[in-house]
Amino acid sequence: MSAEMLSVEQAREAVLARIARLQPVRVELLESLGCVLACDVVSDIDVSPFDNSAMDGYAVRAADTAGASVEVPVVLRVVDHIAAGRVSSVRVGPGEAARIMTGAPIPAGADSIVMVEQTESLENAGSTGGTVAIHRAAIAGDHVRLAGEDVRVGETVLHAGEVVNAASVGLMAALGFAQLDVYRRPRVAIVSTGDELVGITDIPGPGQIRNSNTYSLAAQVLAAGGEPHLLGIARDNEADTRALLERAPEFDLMVTTGGVSMGDFDVVKDVLEQIGQLDFWKVAMRPGAPQTYGTVGGTPFFGLPGNPTSTMVGFELFVRPAIRKMRGFTTLDRPRTLATLAEDTRKKSDRRYFMRGIVEPVETPPPGAPSYTARLSGRQSSAMLTAMHRANCLISLPEGLSQIPAGTIVECIRLDMEEGTP
Ligand code: AMP
Ligand code: MG
Repeated sequence: MSAEMLSVEQAREAVLARIARLQPVRVELLESLGCVLACDVVSDIDVSPFDNSAMDGYAVRAADTAGASVEVPVVLRVVDHIAAGRVSSVRVGPGEAARIMTGAPIPAGADSIVMVEQTESLENAGSTGGTVAIHRAAIAGDHVRLAGEDVRVGETVLHAGEVVNAASVGLMAALGFAQLDVYRRPRVAIVSTGDELVGITDIPGPGQIRNSNTYSLAAQVLAAGGEPHLLGIARDNEADTRALLERAPEFDLMVTTGGVSMGDFDVVKDVLEQIGQLDFWKVAMRPGAPQTYGTVGGTPFFGLPGNPTSTMVGFELFVRPAIRKMRGFTTLDRPRTLATLAEDTRKKSDRRYFMRGIVEPVETPPPGAPSYTARLSGRQSSAMLTAMHRANCLISLPEGLSQIPAGTIVECIRLDMEEGTP
């Protein structure tokens, strides 16, 4: 299938069909943030574990406070002073109250809490032996948090397949889980190719440029929840390229940039065929037509084109969904927004274009029009990164069209949104 031109969808399907979810691993609680849970989590306790006060105030017997008001308060004798963390051994009897703090266990005998704002300290009300005036009749259960109100023993609190967020971490902490089983983050090897490349702290000599793609790709891997491994630069010869590509089986995924076009020194495809398998390399898209996909020793291999924006767009469309699939996610693609194109654009009709753009809400769209507009974020050369930097979307312009006038409704891939955001 290597010579035929695939549509973006065909290429994406072919890639994802070959990508499998990675094995679950046990990680420290905080490391699970953002990962997909690999098992159900069942609570072995009630949360809260005991009935407790929701307010700072007085624990009372509601019947004692019947008819209480500011004008005609009920006066109760204070028999204990209960801080959070202490279990009272005193029973609140008729005509009695216990001073109580938020989170402290409700003492025996009491059935409700009167908040401190609805009381008046008489003698020594804050301490045992004093008295307190109650200004409001309590109803049994007022401001009492019951045991198991939040979580019951035996309840499944988190479910396999859900994504761990900050609240899940808090819940797990409350239930005493210091570790969780989640799907592993893929280890992604990144290789740049090119005789012209120098390190980012080097001063480029004549004809040389800094190796920026290794870093944009590593950042994209990190943002997608993968673990980037920077293998450095392969020079444009087979021996050098083979030496780095052969390392693919050490990783879950390998991504290279450059060396896949029609240039005399583009050796990545040849090396891939020698040491692995080349599945396809032509996708009807721009930027980034030479999207190369294959395997080396069973490790999926993406050969992205070298132009800085082509490489980022290729990552976004193919590598990012693959990383998410490996991590156990079922939603693999960014949200898409329909928008009205704000300017005339032109393209070649034989392929899909992904223009770097800015999508913005419009306050009062004309009837029937989308509530967003989209415009280009700068010059669209794939060698330039500045338009990509300013973009919050890729404007997807379909095959078959060449002139696309302002006012056309277009689909925008939201680079500024994660899956699951509206
Ligand atoms: P290639 O796909 O190897 O023909 O490269 C296409 C263009 O991208 C050339 O202008 C390269 O200099 C440039 N390029 C390739 N690799 C990188 C890289 N790692 N960082 C920045 N630019 C690159
Ligand atoms: Mg090159």
